[in-house]
Amino acid sequence: MGFYVPAELHCGYKNIEKKRHFQQIDLDLPAPLPTHLPLKPLKTLAFPHELTSLSDTLKREGKSLGFVPTMGALHEGHLSLVREAKSKNDVVVASIFVNPTQFNDPKDFERYPRVVEEDQRMLESAGCDVLFLPSVKDMYPDDASQQAVSFGFLETVLEGAHRPGHFSGVGMVVKRLFEIVKPSTAYFGSKDYQQVMVIRSLVEQFSIPVEIIAMPTIRESDGLAMSSRNRLLSAEERTIALALSKALFTAKENYPSQSIPELLQHAIATLSRPDIRLEYFVICDGDTLREITDKSQTKNPVALVAAHVGKVRLIDNLGLGRAVNSEQ
Ligand code: AMP
Repeated sequence: MGFYVPAELHCGYKNIEKKRHFQQIDLDLPAPLPTHLPLKPLKTLAFPHELTSLSDTLKREGKSLGFVPTMGALHEGHLSLVREAKSKNDVVVASIFVNPTQFNDPKDFERYPRVVEEDQRMLESAGCDVLFLPSVKDMYPDDASQQAVSFGFLETVLEGAHRPGHFSGVGMVVKRLFEIVKPSTAYFGSKDYQQVMVIRSLVEQFSIPVEIIAMPTIRESDGLAMSSRNRLLSAEERTIALALSKALFTAKENYPSQSIPELLQHAIATLSRPDIRLEYFVICDGDTLREITDKSQTKNPVALVAAHVGKVRLIDNLGLGRAVNSEQ
């Protein structure tokens, strides 16, 4: 299987050990009470065998490993996963890998923001212990690692339908990451609602011994779902993009009083404007991702939206069934 990777992105990253600067303490003065202890430096590892051997050692010591896979350009959404992993595990590993096999649009892959040093600082401040920064060659060393993974119905709807091959790429990379990192628990964001379902299916299909935890979507104060792609929006486009989360929250507010067709009609009407290219706004049963036409069809209604604003494709979702201000 071939995929598009610009030459400069083929090369892996070398081991990058951060230089640390420790404060000198003047012993003649009374020592001030520390306001916080220095965090452990983040260790960056590039080679799969280094991660596997770390994981094996932890297992032998009876320690838990929490894992947060990412594509980098980190924000508070990613860090919320790292913090949760940190609070529940002995060691936290995050990975940054802009996975070529999950991009159906080569331009989207090229444009995807890459800011590794900034990411390293953020991971360290969130208490992450290890960053796995593999190369494309090490992630896809042979044909077996590039074997397509199927997800049946999930691949035929919403993100699956609009991004052919995307979930197969996600499945490939996450399967490989799980084989390398061998985490006890892995953390994913509900921002990528369908992806969480795909990951659960992957784990079941291949009997991978890992617990999957889905965490709530973290939003900007005005409601915009945090996303690495938000960096690519101009100030004007960012304002336009707000219409997506607004439509979701309006649907949630009106859910008790309106029918599904009314909710959809209103949302689609507000998102049908020249500066937004709407791909879908749907209301589904959150357990199956089948679209519903009547509230009696689900106890777990979820609205999901995908749209292009300028050159940037954004997705978001919201559970409609509970209190207006709560996520999911
Ligand atoms: P990405 O780097 O976009 O592949 O995302 C890595 C992980 O972070 C995935 O599990 C995402 O669902 C999760 N994530 C992305 N954005 C958010 C957000 N706003 N809130 C919570 N989790 C998020």
